[in-house]
Amino acid sequence: MLNDQDAALRERAARVIPGGMWGHLNAAKLPAGYPQFFASAEGCRLTDVNGRTYIDFMCAWGPMVLGHRAPVVEAAAAKQAALGDAMNGPGPVLVDLAETLVGMVAHADWAQFQKNGTDATTVCVTVARAQTRRRKVLVARGAYHGAAPWCTPSLAGVTAEDRLHLIHYDWNDVASLRAAAAEAEGDLAAILVSAFRHDMSKPLELPTRAFAAEARALADAADAALILDDVRAGFRLNLAGSWEDYGVRPDLTAFSKAIANGYAMGAVTGGDKYREAATQVYSTGSFWCGAVAMAAALATLRELQRIDGPARMRAMGERLRAGLAAAAERQGIAISQSGPPQMPLMLFAEDPDFRKADTFCSAALEAGAYFHPRHNMFLSCAHAEADIDAALVAAEAGFKAVKAL
Ligand code: PMP
Repeated sequence: MLNDQDAALRERAARVIPGGMWGHLNAAKLPAGYPQFFASAEGCRLTDVNGRTYIDFMCAWGPMVLGHRAPVVEAAAAKQAALGDAMNGPGPVLVDLAETLVGMVAHADWAQFQKNGTDATTVCVTVARAQTRRRKVLVARGAYHGAAPWCTPSLAGVTAEDRLHLIHYDWNDVASLRAAAAEAEGDLAAILVSAFRHDMSKPLELPTRAFAAEARALADAADAALILDDVRAGFRLNLAGSWEDYGVRPDLTAFSKAIANGYAMGAVTGGDKYREAATQVYSTGSFWCGAVAMAAALATLRELQRIDGPARMRAMGERLRAGLAAAAERQGIAISQSGPPQMPLMLFAEDPDFRKADTFCSAALEAGAYFHPRHNMFLSCAHAEADIDAALVAAEAGFKAVKAL
């Protein structure tokens, strides 16, 4: 492409940024044609640095729950920014936000705030260990809980000691959860669960009621904490917490991503039993009481409540799912769709190397829809029926490209 700004930026980045870009946002991990750099975003649309606009189904990998630059959030953030952001302590908005979260999240008696999901999951684990004075934490094999040494998926720079007290179980496998709890042998601090199984490149799997109930029962039997990592799913499925629909309440929940519609914010909520431990644990950061992000979070949560955001995203996700199924069928292509409609994943049958998924995504991108071939996608409240329908036209181009393989 003539005057390719994305390529020019990548070339400069490769010189001054290790690998050109860190982590999962490195576009080299995406199918051909995906841009690395974006110029702007509005509602459910993203514009890359070459001026191409796409209907966005990644929502910044979760945060944009009301849509990019949602006016109600931007107004609240601007109002707070005019008063102050990083000060020598929090603004009154800290208390408003904590009250709102405690009122919204079913199990919560208190809330603490951080900046990222990794902060929040790490605080949860530390609080659980402080309360129980025990060490072992059960985690699902393959689950993502953040980028700190105790949980990062890459072993580079990680010592065996960092992982020494993790015991793995298999998602939705009650017997393996029981075996993991037994292995902890009186040293169980916490059972860590995701809202649903959302491991990259695998079908998404909601928890069974039996699995959720067993996680609660095993934590209770050992007087250990049940920690819900709701970083990815929080505020999209159920504003009261993602396991409310399964009749199970955690002791501690980690939130981040969607809580402030793109502003950096993490949160931990807990029950009274963990209040004293949360008081004792030294958890803080230079930017953790930034008032602008808190004002953005308060506005985001109130707006999600006002418009019943989860129901709206569910309806749009169901429309997308039905449209994708119909389009695939028209082209005679076998697909599977999994996960909650608000956070869907579409995979192709007999696609071990993801060639079909990549081909689909590249062609759909070219036609104006930004999908992801392996990671769960995200709907936002800015997706309207017309946007879904326009994305389905792009998806049709994707299916045709797969058919032509
Ligand atoms: N837990 C889950 C379930 C996540 O999806 C993520 C982020 N993808 C994290 C924790 C870590 O969040 P962050 O990247 O904000 O540190």
